[in-house]
Amino acid sequence: MRYFPLFAQLTGRRCVMIGGGEEATRKIRLLLKAGARPLVIAPRATPEIVEAAARGTLDLVHRAFDPEDLDGAALLVVSDDGGQPVEPILAVARATGIPINVIDNPALSTVIVPGIVDRDPVLVAIGSAGAAPVLVRRLREKIETLLPARLGALADFAGRFRSAVSAAVTDSGDRRRFWEIFFDGPIARQVLAGAEARAYEGMLRAINDRRPAKVPGSVALIGAGPGDPDLLTVKALRLMQDADVVVHDALLGEGILDCVRRDADRIDVGKRKGKHSVRQDEINDILLAEARAGRRVVRLKGGDPFVFGRGGEELEHLRRNGIDVEIVPGVTAALGAAASCAIPLTDRRHASSVTFITGHGKDGALDVAPALLAEGRNTIVVYMGVSVAGGIAARAIAAGRAPTTPVAVIERATQPDQRVLRGTLATLGRVVEAQGVRGPALLVIGDVTAAVQELPQPFALPERVAV
Ligand code: SAH
Repeated sequence: MRYFPLFAQLTGRRCVMIGGGEEATRKIRLLLKAGARPLVIAPRATPEIVEAAARGTLDLVHRAFDPEDLDGAALLVVSDDGGQPVEPILAVARATGIPINVIDNPALSTVIVPGIVDRDPVLVAIGSAGAAPVLVRRLREKIETLLPARLGALADFAGRFRSAVSAAVTDSGDRRRFWEIFFDGPIARQVLAGAEARAYEGMLRAINDRRPAKVPGSVALIGAGPGDPDLLTVKALRLMQDADVVVHDALLGEGILDCVRRDADRIDVGKRKGKHSVRQDEINDILLAEARAGRRVVRLKGGDPFVFGRGGEELEHLRRNGIDVEIVPGVTAALGAAASCAIPLTDRRHASSVTFITGHGKDGALDVAPALLAEGRNTIVVYMGVSVAGGIAARAIAAGRAPTTPVAVIERATQPDQRVLRGTLATLGRVVEAQGVRGPALLVIGDVTAAVQELPQPFALPERVAV
């Protein structure tokens, strides 16, 4: 180990900063965050530094360095931006023994500033002894996505109860187990989800019982996106990796389920068109039973749970039965498909609105106002519309939409075998039939699709694209 890791307490401490450029400004931000009192010595300073000086959060002087500047200082940071000779300053500093950081120059530094992930009070520091700063940045980004945004709130919450737990659970082994169960358990999850009031009650009960009480499990209603696992949200991924059981649809793209924690149980409740493998009320009951058994249930749905996903019904059932439900939005198929073949769903030149409709409403029929179909500056995205494509096109034409309106059919959007077909409103039914579209596919109707053929289609198989 080439460096000894330390966290420095700088609250109210003077830190001398040589230089006032961009690099210096970034370090000053960090120093201010840590409550330090920077003294900036620079012939020129960025507006941000000047404003901070005007607010009185730091001292700024435009004069030469004076050895007395280091008196009582906790740290010297040097930005060697050519504004002033730094070697004499370093010579003085070395003689005093003050920690020295020369930005981007570990050889001249006695301390270096690590890359950090800040979840105050939790702070993760990463360093490479100056060997590979870009690698450090990459690692930092990875850790950033792994740690819940409210990790700091969780640490603070635990901190508030620390002495109460110590008083209630006197044996140190029992106390460690108490905290382990706490951090793995439902109270911590409630804090992370922002439900602190409930967590507070649970914690008081846990302390009275001398162990975290068993409370019912919870359900996360998660949108898994249109298929490409890279389109999962950070939050979805985090919850999937924490799940005890995942209850999932059939239409998830390959690779999505690979992101679920390996040990989690899997229940496939996929409803394939026309063949309802598990009824909605049965799905509701499965979710409820799993949550009541105290498990972390992930209900994984394609796209977004609240766009033609019956997520609302599941939510209502669970809430009515007192189960905590967290909702995580996903990239709905329309957005995934539009992005993957570069269709701007609105574009002030062609479309000022976009409407998502289903080809199969509650009673199996198309349920949409003719005026919406007729409006020329409205992009229409039809979900579950493949088998009724011709009928929808006829309805739109009958309502007054031009038969020449361009359309695109996007099958298995964002998946490796995505297929894009083009046509017009007049030919839509025939295109779908002739090309044997089996879905899942979307119909996109409107002038915004006209440009599709000229744009790169990363997943499309060109020989099968019909124009
Ligand atoms: N909740 C989902 C939609 C479920 S309805 C969402 O927000 O995307 C199922 C319909 O979504 C399918 O019939 C199809 O029209 C569409 N769909 C889902 N995934 C798709 C994909 N990868 N490519 C094209 N259409 C898709």
